[in-house]
Formats: sequence, C-alpha cells, structure tokens
Amino acid sequence: MKDIEKRRGSVRTTNKLSQKQRPQFHIRPHCYQSAWCLFLHPLYSVNNNVMSQTALKQVGPSVNATTAEINKHLPDDEVEELIDASLAARKNSYSPYSKFPVGAALLTNTGEVITGCNVENASYGLTVCAERTAVCRAVAEGHRKFRAIAITAEMGEKFVGPCGMCRQTLAEFGLDYEVYLSRPDKTYMKTTVGKLLPDSFNPEWVHFESQ
Ligand SMILES: [Zn+2]
Repeated sequence: MKDIEKRRGSVRTTNKLSQKQRPQFHIRPHCYQSAWCLFLHPLYSVNNNVMSQTALKQVGPSVNATTAEINKHLPDDEVEELIDASLAARKNSYSPYSKFPVGAALLTNTGEVITGCNVENASYGLTVCAERTAVCRAVAEGHRKFRAIAITAEMGEKFVGPCGMCRQTLAEFGLDYEVYLSRPDKTYMKTTVGKLLPDSFNPEWVHFESQ
C-alpha cells in the first residue's frame, strides 16, 4: 500500500442510473453481534445475477442503492487489496456463538491498512464487531484519518453493513470516507459513512475537530 497515493487515478463513473431507474429503497436495521440478531434483524436484500466466485466486481445498484455511491474513488487494485485484507482478517474471527465471521480493513490517509475481526464473548453483550476492532487498532497505532473501509461477511447474496454502534464509531472519524460492503467472492457495494449514518451526531456537534 506504500505507493497507494501514486496509483490514485481519475474518478471513474460506471453504471450511472437515473433516480427513476433505481430500485425501490427499503432498509432494515440489523446487527450481527449475536446469533439472535441474525434472526431478529434481516439484512439488506439484493437481487443480483450469479457472480463470479473470484473476480473483483462492483455490484449495484441494489435495493439499498440509495445509500451507495456509484462513482468510484479508489482504483480497482486498491479496492481489491482492501477487500483481500478484510478477507484475511475474517479468518481470524472469534465468533463461536454466532458462527458469523466478519472481517474489516481500514485504509488510512497515509496508505496503511489496519484490519479487524469480530471478537465475541460468552456474555454476548461484550462482543466487539470487526469494524470497531479495526478502528480501535488504527487509533492505537496513531491513525485518525481514513480513506476507506472494507467490511466482508457472508450471508448469501446479501451485503452486510455495519451495525448502528459501528456506524457511530466510524462517523467519529469522518463522514466522507468510503465503505465497501463485500462478500467472500469479492463482489462489493460501495457507500460512505455519511450515507450509512445520515444526520449523525458527530464531533462537530460538540465543537470538536479531530486532529
Ligand atoms: Zn458493529
């Protein structure tokens, strides 16, 4: 990732659809902190054709397309590298209760990739999600500005977004950085923190500017 800045290319535009063409939006809250949540909070539903099992591929628009940015800001190789990192982190998931491993990979504005996985607990409530694990690791290593995060989980053809707690945690460090919701086959849907948590309560509200 060292030469990540050098590789940044022009902003690409693909699959632009008019507002009228976009599928109807319906979003349902969810989380994946425990097995209970998996049953109580269905995830986004996505209607897609059969995807490649290995190739990087952006999917969209989906039923949650109104939260997704169609324009890409990271080149494909950076997106793939970030998703690969989240996949690798997912293998370290400690999720014996939900059996729902999740991996996350944060790209800092200086090009480092910081990963995390979900770490469950017998109390259930003390479970920490992959996204927050990654954020805490990044902050502990001196990073507070991020360009993107990839989050990978597997639930059929659905894309797994962050739970509310993680959205708030991500918003602490900016609303504009990108979120790649990915599946193990490396298909992904792109959105941003701000899109995932509109009208958020964030440091601006308490007149704090993160350094
Ligand atoms: Zn979470």
